[in-house]
Amino acid sequence: SYRKGGYHAVRVGDQFAGGRYIAQRKLGWGQFSTVWLAYDTRTSQYVALKIQKSAAQFAEAALHEIEVLSAIANGDPSNSKCVVRLMDHFKHTGPNGQHLCMVLEFLGDSLLRLIRYNRYKGLGLNKIREICKCILMGLDYLHRELGIIHCDLKPENILLFSTIDPTKDPVRSGLTPILERPEGNPNGGVTMNIIEKKLKRRARRAVLKISERRASMGGTAKCERTLDGIDMRCKVVDFGNACWADKQFAEEIQTRQYRAPEVILQAGYSFSIDMWSFACTAFELATGDMLFTPNSGQGFSEDEDHLALMMELLGKMPRKVAIGGAKSKDFFDRHGDLKRIRRLKFWPLDRLLVEKYKFSENDAREFAEFLCPIFDFAPEKRPTAQQCLQHPWFNLRNSTQDEMKNEANMGKLNVGMGNLKIKVGK
Ligand code: ADP
Ligand code: MG
Repeated sequence: SYRKGGYHAVRVGDQFAGGRYIAQRKLGWGQFSTVWLAYDTRTSQYVALKIQKSAAQFAEAALHEIEVLSAIANGDPSNSKCVVRLMDHFKHTGPNGQHLCMVLEFLGDSLLRLIRYNRYKGLGLNKIREICKCILMGLDYLHRELGIIHCDLKPENILLFSTIDPTKDPVRSGLTPILERPEGNPNGGVTMNIIEKKLKRRARRAVLKISERRASMGGTAKCERTLDGIDMRCKVVDFGNACWADKQFAEEIQTRQYRAPEVILQAGYSFSIDMWSFACTAFELATGDMLFTPNSGQGFSEDEDHLALMMELLGKMPRKVAIGGAKSKDFFDRHGDLKRIRRLKFWPLDRLLVEKYKFSENDAREFAEFLCPIFDFAPEKRPTAQQCLQHPWFNLRNSTQDEMKNEANMGKLNVGMGNLKIKVGK
């Protein structure tokens, strides 16, 4: 993809916007972009530089994203609404064409990484409450104040962040800015690859080490490192697919596993599709597993399997909802039964949490009571983000002991401003 119309190849020390921003290391990438940690020489701050592919359709998408991000920044002068902040944008010309670049506040690892670091075991419910609160605050702002639907909410697009400022606390952040391209390094790109590989290997080893130690302790709750006491805060990112509710342009939206039923049925959509994705995300944080992972099979499509999985968990879809979409006839007969998947095995959410994920009866019931209303098949009946924030589930607190039971241990978690080493000893 590093060719005409594609990604812009970046090397450590490369300058952007007339020398203002200097590339430090690669943070991540998506379908349309690569994202680099950069040093802003004007403000002496670290920022995330999202560099879009150059072809026309990517540039157009980036312009749209900049428009959405600008509205988000303008409506939140104190930057307190749990949504990533756009700080600047500009064009950068390279060998592959002209790339739109977004300068974003620098955040940390995604919730997907958090789940992976936690070895897909699920986090404790107290932490999930904190994370859910942040996501809901972000969604409430987008939905109620701006009229924006995110359209691609998932763990990968929610990033952790800490309030530690490395420019004030460089020791804790462990970062020193690179101001020039490293010398004796004619092919920076390749070297960077080697460094990245080394870092990845080191991360894997760290995880292995912890798991070995756990095994040698008989896999009990006696963890060497825990997530205890960390202020879990996060922000919603990636507005490449977002839209204003009154200016929708796409039908095929949302990442498969987080897709709402009305999107599959093409029955029109609104803010409540983000609520559906939110509830899928909350389940994943608690269990380490995606809630719905549909597959096509003999005689049925991925879409039909997806609808079947939803009904097995949540009960039969009301006939009115089932037959109400432009694509309903592809899946449902006139009685509102699936055409090709006839036998459903019902497994309600609270039972699933107890039987498969070993939740206590109490935890399962409370969590299911919070999530089930959000999984209403009728989009207009789902609670809003604002209503969810009022739910009594947020006032509950599990004991430290219960928290430890659910939670596997952690290595090192990147919360944006350097690596936060997690408290040792329990
Ligand atoms: P795309 O639209 O191409 O999917 P994203 O905005 O999702 O791009 O960014 C791709 C990846 O880059 C993210 O998954 C994340 O790992 C990293 N990233 C994006 N924004 C930031 C940020 N503000 N701070 C730190 N890392 C980021
Ligand atoms: Mg993304």
